[in-house]
Amino acid sequence: MKVQNLCILGSTGSIGDSTLDVVARNPERFNVVALTANRNTKKLALQCARFSADIAVIADPSLVPELALHLEEAGSKAEILAGEEGLASAAGMPETDTVMAAIVGAAGLGPTFHAAQRGKKILLANKESLVIAGEVFIGEARRNAALVLPVDSEHNAIFQSLPPKFTDGLDAIGVEKIILTASGGPFLDMPADQLAAVTPEQACAHPNWDMGRKISVDSATLMNKGLEVIEARWLFNARPEQIDVLVHPQSIVHSMVSYRDGSVIAQLGTPDMRTPIANVLSWPDRIDAGVSHLNLAQINDLSFREPDLDRFPCLSLAFAAMQTGDSAPAILNAANEIAVEAFLNGRIGFNRIPELVEEVLNRVPVTPLNSLGDVMEQDRLARIRAIKYTEAFND
Ligand code: NAD
Ligand code: MG
Repeated sequence: MKVQNLCILGSTGSIGDSTLDVVARNPERFNVVALTANRNTKKLALQCARFSADIAVIADPSLVPELALHLEEAGSKAEILAGEEGLASAAGMPETDTVMAAIVGAAGLGPTFHAAQRGKKILLANKESLVIAGEVFIGEARRNAALVLPVDSEHNAIFQSLPPKFTDGLDAIGVEKIILTASGGPFLDMPADQLAAVTPEQACAHPNWDMGRKISVDSATLMNKGLEVIEARWLFNARPEQIDVLVHPQSIVHSMVSYRDGSVIAQLGTPDMRTPIANVLSWPDRIDAGVSHLNLAQINDLSFREPDLDRFPCLSLAFAAMQTGDSAPAILNAANEIAVEAFLNGRIGFNRIPELVEEVLNRVPVTPLNSLGDVMEQDRLARIRAIKYTEAFND
């Protein structure tokens, strides 16, 4: 068995933590080459020391001296790189085979794209990369023979439920539909008139999953599912009408594939991201993930229902952006990132998130995307608009 040399982009986050936990359980399989963080120098230094990383990358270059101090304290000899360039070098360096893309938001696109250009094995958690750059990203990965394996639990479930060769489209393998399950988030049964008053703390208290704050809010608005629908389109070469969403509050069935002959194949498991992470880290082998095994007799109840698009308009907005295509998903994502940040900082109410996204989608002209530069420009324009509206909305 060949040891895999790993770069973990966003190692200090929730997915980063879970990835390192799986790595620690299987030390004979992995060698940690590079770890990266946005601003948390102390945690990054401790991780570098524990996993003997060669490279530590801090996205904020002003924090290099602080990181140097913490690395020394922790007893790590890791070399420091910084900024966007540092992230890209770590993702593309010849010493790494596999890149875990676990930075949150559009900030993850640059380094993940770099990994695609260098033909790395990419374990993709950063769904925003695919949402905003879709065809451009997948095209780049194909051209450079970069293998993209899905970490997102739903997409990982679909990946496990499909035959090994699925890149020629779903029709070719007899698939009728991909069905993404959604927990429905913490406000699944909250009446519409109470949604305006929910706090960031309530929105981040997900009933089943322990995640970073941005994706937690996305789960509460159902924008997370919207982003995942677009992510699925690109990962599985699906047509928009081949993707459905079903609310499943227990988060045990992580998604399903419905075939032409009436068969439905699903992947089930305890809701713990270490399962999909272990799956892609060791694929096609299976390794210990430290996850408690599923006891269906104890769970007893698995229920499913249609999503409520009136109370959670973000999901419809994402479906519409996918149908429109071109830069519409990039505009949707940028507006959503700004709106979520404003909500988390207490500047706008929860109900304003879909309003703001819709406003920006209506105002920023949709254009074709042919390169990473085109994608970045649309992202920039949408952010400017979104910030303007955030200020106007200030509740
Ligand atoms: P998180 O907020 O816990 O961690 C984000 C990581 O990215 C941190 O290491 C942070 O330092 C780094 N980061 C943040 N902004 C950055 C920037 N501008 N430049 C460089 N680095 C930056 O987030 P998370 O919950 O771990 O999610 C990471 C990604 O994985 C997201 O795209 C999310 O949608 C996806 N994902 C997460 C989960 C989950 O259970 N947490 C599940 C599925 C998919
Ligand atoms: Mg998911």
